[in-house]
Parts: sequence; C-alpha cells; structure tokens
Amino acid sequence: MALTVRTVDGGQTTISLSALEQLRKAVTGHVLNAASPGYDEARTVWNGMIDRRPALVIRCHRADDVVQGVRFAREHRAMLAVRGGGHDIAGNAVCDAGLQIDLSPMNTVRIDHDTRTAHVGPGATLADFDLEAQRYGLATPLGINSTTGVAGLTLGGGFGWLSRSLGLTIDNLLEAEIVTAEGERVRASAGENPDLFWATRGGGGNFGVVTDFHFRLHPVGPTVLAGLIVHPLDAAGKVLRYYREFMATTPEEFVCWFVMRQAPPLPFLAQQWHGKEILVLAVCYSGPSIAEGERIAKPLRSFGSPIADLVGPNPYTAWQTTLDPLLTPGARNYWKSHDFREVSNGLIDTLVKYAGRIPDPQTEIAVAQLGGAVSRVPHAATAYTHRDGQFVMNVHGRWSDRAKDASCIAWARELFAAATPFATGGVYVNFLTQEEGDRVRAAYGSNYDRLVALKDRYDPTNLFQVNQNIRPAVASV
Ligand SMILES: Cc1cc2nc3c(=O)[nH]c(=O)nc-3n(C[C@H](O)[C@H](O)[C@H](O)COP(=O)(O)OP(=O)(O)OC[C@H]3O[C@@H](n4cnc5c(N)ncnc54)[C@H](O)[C@@H]3O)c2cc1C
Repeated sequence: MALTVRTVDGGQTTISLSALEQLRKAVTGHVLNAASPGYDEARTVWNGMIDRRPALVIRCHRADDVVQGVRFAREHRAMLAVRGGGHDIAGNAVCDAGLQIDLSPMNTVRIDHDTRTAHVGPGATLADFDLEAQRYGLATPLGINSTTGVAGLTLGGGFGWLSRSLGLTIDNLLEAEIVTAEGERVRASAGENPDLFWATRGGGGNFGVVTDFHFRLHPVGPTVLAGLIVHPLDAAGKVLRYYREFMATTPEEFVCWFVMRQAPPLPFLAQQWHGKEILVLAVCYSGPSIAEGERIAKPLRSFGSPIADLVGPNPYTAWQTTLDPLLTPGARNYWKSHDFREVSNGLIDTLVKYAGRIPDPQTEIAVAQLGGAVSRVPHAATAYTHRDGQFVMNVHGRWSDRAKDASCIAWARELFAAATPFATGGVYVNFLTQEEGDRVRAAYGSNYDRLVALKDRYDPTNLFQVNQNIRPAVASV
C-alpha cells in the first residue's frame, strides 16, 4: 500500500509502494512501519511526555543507509527526524507522520590506544563510549547520565564531570563524518570543511547527520574520588555560600555540582530524612592522586553537619552511572535552564525558596559547574558560544502522574522567572524544551548570524528542521 507522509512544509505527500520497495532494497538496516516489530522501540524517547508516530522508520546499520534515508526524505520532501540516543527533552528524535532515521544500531566504539583517539558511532550511548575507553584508562568529557546518546550530546556541546579540566565534548572532537542535506558523505575537521566543522560543534542536528565522531582521549582514572555530600535544605543557604568561596580555591580537576530535591528513600539516608528537602553536593576529583583529592575535598566535607557523606574512591565508569537510577526513561519531564556567571546570594536564596516547595519527589533543581577549560576557548571558536557561563541550572521538572502536569510545569516556570535576574541570558541548546524555539537565538548569541549563513549554504530547504532549528534565511518552507 502507498504511504502518506508529512512534508517539510506541513503538507502531505503519497509515497508509492515501488518507491518503498526500492528503499527497502537499498538499505541494509530495516525499514519499519507502525505494524513492524521494533517500531515502538524506535519511536519511544526518554521524555514520557513525547508520544509521536512516524510514518516510516529507517533503522540504519551503516553510513550508506543514512545516505539512502536522507536522499529519500529529500526526494519526497518528507519531514525528517534523526534519532541518536533519544534523550532530547524536546523529543526531536521523533516526528509525527514523517520519516525517522534511527541511528541506534550504529553504536560501535573503536579506541586507538596509541593515538589516544576514538571513533564513535552515532548510536552509541555514553556508557558504550566510557566502558570501551576505560579499558585503556582513557576518557573524554561526556554527560552525567550513561544512557544519553553521544551524538545529540556532542552536537549541542556536551559537558560533565571532566569539563572543568578538559573542556566540552566538542572541544575534544577532532573530526566528524557527515551526511549532508544533498545526501553526500563529507568529512569535517579543522583542515577539511572547517565551516561545517565549526557549525557541527554546537549547532545541533541542523547541518547534517553525523555518522562518525572522532574524539581525542585523555588518561582518566580508572579510579576517581567522587560521591555525594547531603545536607538538609535548611542548611543550604550557608553551605552554598561556603561552597562558592571554597570552589574558587580548587584546581580544575575538582568539580562540585549541586542538586536540591526531596530525599529519595535510599539506604544511605536515615529514614527520618526520606521525603524531606535536601541539598546534595556531587563531587568529582579526576586528578592523578586520590590522596590529593582527599586533601582538597576535606574542608568541603567537614563544613556544617552533613546527613550523609559518600565521597570515596570509585571506578570512573561506576561514577558515570551513579545518577542513572534517578533519571530512568519514561517519566514526564519539563525543563527550564539558565546560565550563570556566579552563584550569587540572590540566586542561592531563590533556589532555596523554590526547593522548599518542590512539587514532586522526582523533581530537582540541578546546577552544573563549568568554567576552567571550557571558558578558555574563545566564544567564536565553535558554534557553542556561552563559555562565560560558569554554572548551568537545569530546573528538572519530573513526575509520573499526568494530573500533575500543570502544577509541575507552573512551578518550573515560576522558578525560571525568579532566577532570570541572576542569569546571563544565554542557555544551553541541549536543555531547551519543545516550546522554546524562540530561545534558539539566545542559545547561540553572537554566533547566530554565522550559523544562519551556514544553514543557507548547507541546508537551504531546511530538511533538517526537527531540532532546535536554525532557520535558513533563504528558506522556502
Ligand atoms: C537524563 C539526562 C541527562 C542529561 N545530562 C546531560 C549532561 O550531563 N551534559 C550534557 O551536556 N547534556 C546532558 N543532557 C542533555 C543531552 O545532551 C541532550 O538531551 C542530547 O540531545 C541527547 O542526545 P541523544 O543523542 O540522546 O538525543 P536525541 O534525542 O536522539 O537527539 C537529540 C538531537 O540531536 C539530533 N541528532 C541526534 N543524533 C544525530 C546525528 N548523528 N546527526 C545529526 N543530528 C543528530 C536529533 O535529531 C535531535 O535533534 C541530558 C539529558 C538527559 C535526558
């Protein structure tokens, strides 16, 4: 039977049976429709609020499958979504009634120990990459939830426990292979297609489908000093004021992010704290000597009266999965994010106030620490621009009961508004929700115009638009 699909301009087109058959023959992976096994797996993404049904899914096994998929979408002007790890909060890995290129089978990681580099497939998760690289005691900065896709994380910038000392994920990207909107496979690096390489480092999926990432690796671990220090929320004002002074004295290998939430019923917390609001300091020291990390961490660990202190030597790969149990897929999620240059008194007081009325036990306010190596890269060197943001807040609204949608979203928006006076105005593109298309310009700041010019050059018909979209100025759609 012929298939009706949505087009890039919001209309519809009919794809003939013979065209579908040709596509099936041309790809080594599987072409799925709603009745095929694996269809629901491909269309289900991390954020349980997203429920979209593509007309067709191409599960790609190799780069040529991606070429076929892009050419097919282009020929039929079909709406096209690209799935890496499916963690995008806005759900841009999937679209209704269009075509989905699913890269998840392309999850190979190849480490070259001698050159300390890695080739990573676009379907690999952070866990796939970390586990393989750590077999050689190597790593590159990635995020803090091991089921996240390397692809989407890298294309937006990418940061985690190693970023203060080793930079963003994109600062360690040496080269990428990209299938362009023309359906051509090209390589992008400092020496080859440098403009495309620049745009790929932060510009999201706007410029093509990456089929291979080539990263620089660094010796890390295999043991790091890491863990959580937990305080009651009542102490958060004092602890965070101390934290601010303390962190200014630490080397870049030492990072501390913080989270405010209700205490989960976990065995390391006395039962009396379960369900109560807490401040969690998440510490990671990735320098060469655990003893040195212990020495640096000591004043922070002995400040105030923590109700739990779990800081200790941990395998790096274990630390990379520590927060996974709190970030499982399928929950309803709504995020709001700001960048900050400092953790000011006004910001601390605002966060504590809103943490006191957190609307659900799964919801949290998380603040990541960047600076250091991230800030040393000039802001125009990559599409990711906000390198002056030392802290990134993610108001991480998360709950299960659909009936709580309105109250949880309202709380997140109110906190976001209350924190705005302390923010830089910049935002991390990978934390934008589906309704925040109007913040894409803010996400790229002074780099935005160059990105539009490159979009005009590489994707003038906006084939790659199911993302935080940089609209081409010449767009006919
Ligand atoms: C629980 C959780 C924790 C997170 N923690 C961090 C963190 O610590 N640090 C951080 O930096 N970010 C973090 N993020 C944000 C994360 O970087 C983004 O959600 C990112 O988009 C995830 O990538 P993905 O491949 O899993 O997503 P997808 O949803 O598969 O893709 C995201 C976007 O990238 C596009 N895309 C995917 N693959 C390709 C490709 N190969 N070529 C072209 N376009 C592609 C998609 O079309 C989509 O627009 C976190 C997200 C979650 C849900």
